[in-house]
Amino acid sequence: MAVGPQRVNSLQERLEALGLDAFLVTLPTNIRYLVGFTGDLGLLLVTKDAVELAVDGRYTEHARREVGAVPVREVRGEWAAALAGLAANHSVGHIGYEGDHVTVSQLERLAEGAPGVQLEPFSGTVLALRARKSPEEIEALVQAIALTDETMAALRDWLRPGVTEREAVWFVESYIRTHGGEAVAFDPIVAAGRNGAMAHARPSDRPIGRQEPIVVDIGARVEGYHGDLTRTLWFGTPTDRFNELYNLVLEAQLTAEDGIKAGMSGKEADGLARAVIEGAGYGERFSHSLGHGVGLAIHEEPRLSQLAEGTLETGAVVSVEPGVYFPDWGGIRIEDLVVIEDGGVRVLTRSAKEPWLAE
Ligand code: ZN
Ligand code: ZN
Repeated sequence: MAVGPQRVNSLQERLEALGLDAFLVTLPTNIRYLVGFTGDLGLLLVTKDAVELAVDGRYTEHARREVGAVPVREVRGEWAAALAGLAANHSVGHIGYEGDHVTVSQLERLAEGAPGVQLEPFSGTVLALRARKSPEEIEALVQAIALTDETMAALRDWLRPGVTEREAVWFVESYIRTHGGEAVAFDPIVAAGRNGAMAHARPSDRPIGRQEPIVVDIGARVEGYHGDLTRTLWFGTPTDRFNELYNLVLEAQLTAEDGIKAGMSGKEADGLARAVIEGAGYGERFSHSLGHGVGLAIHEEPRLSQLAEGTLETGAVVSVEPGVYFPDWGGIRIEDLVVIEDGGVRVLTRSAKEPWLAE
């Protein structure tokens, strides 16, 4: 995706308030977001009126093709010397950096190799800009979500009792790869029966049976953007327990999708679903947060959790994924992706919510 200058401009506008001459971006997805470079290593220096990308020789040509008018400097030797060169080139001394992503030893080397530069750590500066998606980003997310929905439908047609979780995961991976996805967004989860009691279960060689909940959590990646979808499926006649719990999680999910509004905190959004599950006496079984932002990373800002004080803004794309988990029985989770708009959310996920599978 071609990136216009407005994203860099948004960061430049923040520099004055942060008390900085420049900002050094090192997290690859943040560099990609700001200037479109898709390599996995680089330094991006953003000053009040300029921007420059430093990459090593593997990426020079690659970077020049991707970043349009942004100057690209090839690093030969130490990265710290490259930072010193960037700082001197733009006459900046006080530079903010991404404190969540630079290791202690990297910082020591940068400080030693660029002694005239004062480095100050910041947290979440670019991630905050990424929370609000542009129309082009939402279009890329819609494509990733559509392929994820298509994969879920194909899995539902293909799945039979006796197939192992690992075989089902391979079906998902190969379907995504052969239908336009550049990769899976994360290791797919297919977790039946008690294996589904872990929210982040690993697939096993156990055959999937009848009369047990099957948690399927999958995503396709398209143009760097991630899909994320969970459905809970079931072969055979439902038990009363499954019906009761499935309907409870569905009610919690629909209540949150109806109630989430721009301007609300992530904690308030989480509370919409949590109140429904707590009201039925299963609050302790909802052992994770309600949702997370999705974009160039599978988990990003904003967060929808009991600890999230930040405000949900229009343009954010987030998951809404309540669940309940029982060690002796399994789990139920239902997850959609939604975009927050004026007046409420628009659900981007299209997958059916009926859990029943034909045998
Ligand atoms: Zn998921
Ligand atoms: Zn998710």
